[in-house]
Amino acid sequence: MNPFEGDLYSIWHPFTQHQTAKPPICIKSAKDALLIDENGNEIIDAVSSWWTNIFGHCNEEIAQSIKNQVDTLEHVLFSGFTHQPAVQLSEQLLALLPTSQKKVFFSDNGSTAVEVALKMSIQYWCNKGVEKQTFIAFKDAYHGDTFGAMSVGARGVFNQAFENLLFDVAFIDLPNATNFTQVISDFLHIIHEKNVAAFIFEPLLLGSAGMLMYESIYLDKLIQIAKNEKVICIADEVLTGIGRTGKNFACDYLIEQPDIICISKGITGGFMPLGLTTSTQAIYDAFLSSDKLKTFFHGHSYTGNPLACAAANATLQILKKSEALISQLVKWQSVHTAQLKALKEVENVRQIGTIVAFDVCSEQQSNYFNNLRDFLYDSFLERGVLLRPLGNTVYIMPPYVISEEQLKKVYAVIREVVRNLHPNV
Ligand SMILES: *Cc1c(COP(=O)(O)O)cnc(C)c1O
Repeated sequence: MNPFEGDLYSIWHPFTQHQTAKPPICIKSAKDALLIDENGNEIIDAVSSWWTNIFGHCNEEIAQSIKNQVDTLEHVLFSGFTHQPAVQLSEQLLALLPTSQKKVFFSDNGSTAVEVALKMSIQYWCNKGVEKQTFIAFKDAYHGDTFGAMSVGARGVFNQAFENLLFDVAFIDLPNATNFTQVISDFLHIIHEKNVAAFIFEPLLLGSAGMLMYESIYLDKLIQIAKNEKVICIADEVLTGIGRTGKNFACDYLIEQPDIICISKGITGGFMPLGLTTSTQAIYDAFLSSDKLKTFFHGHSYTGNPLACAAANATLQILKKSEALISQLVKWQSVHTAQLKALKEVENVRQIGTIVAFDVCSEQQSNYFNNLRDFLYDSFLERGVLLRPLGNTVYIMPPYVISEEQLKKVYAVIREVVRNLHPNV
């Protein structure tokens, strides 16, 4: 049986309508920014395999770190036990994060990192004997696919079936120069009307919403207000962390510091599932008690998996020496961005660090189900470039090790496809 048939018989893929989906492409191997299929065709992975792969596929340092670990200690339960790879990772990470962060809690993906942050915030107030259970989030936010993470995310087609089961969250608009006064007043109004436990946000970039960007001055102001009003601030850096925005963390652009940070995706260089939720000393201290009920009763079987920690330790080592690599990619992207802006077929060209996004001009309303989306996806792929448009929004989020030549090809393919789309312009 060839792999396609085997897949068709036995596998249910994520975010896939199997009635209409084309057969999946079987990838046999990968190296740096390239995926290589069964027939030896090369595809440039311009979305870093769902935003996870930062230092290239099959990166040798990360692979070696996992190999060294796998014969020594593959896994051990993490309650009552610990191990060197987890301790090393916590120390390395805390040294890179804003100084407010003092403790690291382990889980295994971005959604659970968020879930942990939400539960920590609620129980923090509960342990202090304060009744606060409301969250504030941005209207278009995406924080993951578990129930808590869905609740603090945009309400729409993806979670329609579950809408009645999601807990109540107060949403505010993404701030910009025009609406900022209104956003501040809405924010304060919610805090004064409801018992707000925490404000959760994707710092500077709302990824799944369509790569929407907003400025650090607005976020700084919101965090400042939240702090004055005793509202916990949760930065979801699942996408933005580990160099994506041009700095180690998007929070490095801020003056204010969050209380809790969620990290996943790039942390293992795209090798292993790992989620981390870091907190301040004050949050941690609220769970210290002779009263057992104040314990944080949360944990996953694979908490602190040593292989994932080994991958993350190698990734952070590489990150430390990658400043030049990342700034070079940022520079290349900005050169191409300037050229994109000259095209009539695209609008809202925007960049943050290593990420560039733009909207393809379309008569339809721009959303995920825009028909253009499938056409663009297929046309890019036929030309050897993997890009996954969000509706009519195309974004380029390559591994940092993509070569200049490969990046040029990505843009050449984009230009060819969008020009074909609008032959009359
Ligand atoms: C992808 C993502 C998540 C969810 O992470 P998973 O590992 O897919 O569960 C959460 N928050 C943000 C900002 C993300 O981009």
